[in-house]
Amino acid sequence: MKNYKKDFPIFKNNDLTYLDSGATSQKPQVVLDAVSEYYESYNANIHRGIYKIAEKATKAVDDARKKVATFINAASPDEIIFTKGTTESINLVMYTLGMELIKKQDVIVTTVMEHHSNFVPWQQLAEKKQATFQVVDITEDGKLDEEQILEYTKRAKIFAFTYVSNMLGTINWVSKIIKKVREQNPEIIILIDAAQAVPHKKVDVQELDCDFLVFSGHKMLAETGIGVLYGKKNLLNHMSPFLYGGDMINEVSIKKTTFASLPSKFEAGTINIAGIISLAAAIDYLADLDMESVQKHEKELAIKCIGDLEKLGGITVYGPQDSFSRSGVVSFTVEGIHAHDIGQILADKNICVRSGHHCTMPLHTRLGIAASTRASFYIYNDEKDIEAFIDGIKEAKRLFRA
Ligand code: PMP
Repeated sequence: MKNYKKDFPIFKNNDLTYLDSGATSQKPQVVLDAVSEYYESYNANIHRGIYKIAEKATKAVDDARKKVATFINAASPDEIIFTKGTTESINLVMYTLGMELIKKQDVIVTTVMEHHSNFVPWQQLAEKKQATFQVVDITEDGKLDEEQILEYTKRAKIFAFTYVSNMLGTINWVSKIIKKVREQNPEIIILIDAAQAVPHKKVDVQELDCDFLVFSGHKMLAETGIGVLYGKKNLLNHMSPFLYGGDMINEVSIKKTTFASLPSKFEAGTINIAGIISLAAAIDYLADLDMESVQKHEKELAIKCIGDLEKLGGITVYGPQDSFSRSGVVSFTVEGIHAHDIGQILADKNICVRSGHHCTMPLHTRLGIAASTRASFYIYNDEKDIEAFIDGIKEAKRLFRA
């Protein structure tokens, strides 16, 4: 892969080794330009004005929706709901479908490798409804325990799990899991947290056969505050609205309100137009690179990074050993040094990693650790970043005599 750093102004303005794309990605100039162009030349609200710039803004949002639908192979743009991000998308499903569907003693299943945003909403729903909350464990090599999945989902109403773990880097074999789960429980609702998948690999919602799939723009080169909820049309059609207000109605009278059809029904108020435009520009940029080479590039960096880390000794890298099941996320602990100290030593050298629990406390508890350090790779990273990072870890080991 060629050097993409030059497309990202942040690297011109800073001498950075940025290894925290799992938290948020940097933004290429084309995305920043698309947003500036909107504000500078056709800033207007959508669906309201009939003047030229309003029509242009409305068309930009409609085109962006089609672009997202094509990017994840949704059957229709109506199945794409714009939200604030992954967290809001999951809460939308929990507060609408979840609240209506789940009754006392029903079963909701998630997994121990979930980000809090795909764990806490379901745990809270179970608590409110006196339902059973079951959490699938991981195997020793950091994969989902598939036997347990089948056992727990047998009579479950909802199964929510991640495509790619933001801590272990595990890529779950989602299509196979869904097929098996549906064979024994055709009625089950399946939601996929694809926050760490859509930015990094080809995702096809029809091939997966998931009911819902959620992700955030800011982890895939777009702005913060924009995300996506994909849902199968028949389900979205039957769900109640999440937020009430302008733009999501069909007709309002003192007696009664009827709601707009999809996708407006779930997009009350003024949505994040600039964010949507940034997402469309980000998708153009990524599609141009081709998602298979994006994934290959990150995997190669992660594998090299793991090899170099392990050579140092006294380091535990979490997640699957086989490269097939790994994404570009590398979480590890260093014997005798706290993750926050590692983070600080690297930060002093302008090397950006994440230290802590990465919003996966149940997973850290399961692994018997309080915190870890995470390096996560994206298209703009290269072997020089790994060198700087490994030098930083060596220095930390020297300083702590670890
Ligand atoms: N799920 C996963 C797997 C994530 O990595 C993240 C972000 N770290 C989220 C959910 C939450 O995404 P957001 O903060 O954009 O809502």
